[in-house]
Amino acid sequence: MGQTIKATGVADVARTLKIPRKQMRLLLDRFRVTGGKGFRLKHFDPADTAGPLLSRVQAQALLATGVGRLSALQERLYAQDRWSMLCVFQAMDAAGKDGTIKHVMSGVNPQGVHVTSFKAPGPEELSHDFLWRAGRAMPARGQIGIHNRSHYEEVLVVRVHPEILQRQRMPKELIGKKIWHHRLDSIADYERHLARQGTVILKFFLHLSKEEQKRRFLDRLREPGKNWKFGIGDVAEREHWDAYQEAYEEAIAATATPHAPWFVVPSDNKWFTRLVVVSAMIEALDELDLKLPVISRQERAVLDAARLKLEAET
Ligand code: ATP
Ligand code: MG
Repeated sequence: MGQTIKATGVADVARTLKIPRKQMRLLLDRFRVTGGKGFRLKHFDPADTAGPLLSRVQAQALLATGVGRLSALQERLYAQDRWSMLCVFQAMDAAGKDGTIKHVMSGVNPQGVHVTSFKAPGPEELSHDFLWRAGRAMPARGQIGIHNRSHYEEVLVVRVHPEILQRQRMPKELIGKKIWHHRLDSIADYERHLARQGTVILKFFLHLSKEEQKRRFLDRLREPGKNWKFGIGDVAEREHWDAYQEAYEEAIAATATPHAPWFVVPSDNKWFTRLVVVSAMIEALDELDLKLPVISRQERAVLDAARLKLEAET
């Protein structure tokens, strides 16, 4: 499959094509990481498009109908008002976080979804522990929270650039060799706590190849309409590519669990990134078996009375 799969033009076929649950699970299992044992990023191909696991027509169907299906499930999540969902997006620059989030958001009710973009922390945030700002952005019951970058930056960019750690105003006695270990433990504990409270957690690492990043950077530099997307620091960060990959590998291995899985999403093809992310969200919401709230007999009587009153209006 090439780079050009689009949902357009096949909507009618797509709408009638239902992809079996088992096949979806197999597809997602290919990218899902639920434990750290033996985990290596190099086992995942950024250009993977799942080959024989998914036909071209099925891929088109998923792209055409996925967002609609997600929207229907989100409505139930919102109406039921018990579970919440946290989607973490982490990636190297130009991997397609923004485009993927835009795609996910294109079909859902904005009242039930909140996107938070985490930038370098400001003075108030630095006056607190590193999970403080993540906690403030956690989705309420019935809501989906999308974190564009996240608490994981504390073991990624901060690890790659230790000078950032020096600016975090921590007591110096607490900055030792084990700090990354401790941070990863804190993150894993925190996510277990959230899961126990009813937050469904999905973590997406958009896995881009170094060559594709170069192509996308050059695109941004050559095309005037895309210039704004280029951050002047992006090329400097690229020089730390290997250090980032190592930090990602360790972070994913230390925090991947069945209740807070990572998905290593192949990101050299944007259509495939979107397909995997939306499918993983659908699968997770589907598993909750969300039902619209049941109306009791008394409530039904109240509704009937309201209806009769409205109908009697002249
Ligand atoms: P784009 O990919 O579209 O450029 P972006 O997410 O890179 O979007 P930027 O404003 O370019 O947005 O970058 C945000 C920056 O904030 C990143 O370089 C990121 O590493 C940094 N950042 C996020 N969280 C932290 C943190 N906890 N400590 C230090 N830096 C952080
Ligand atoms: Mg950037």
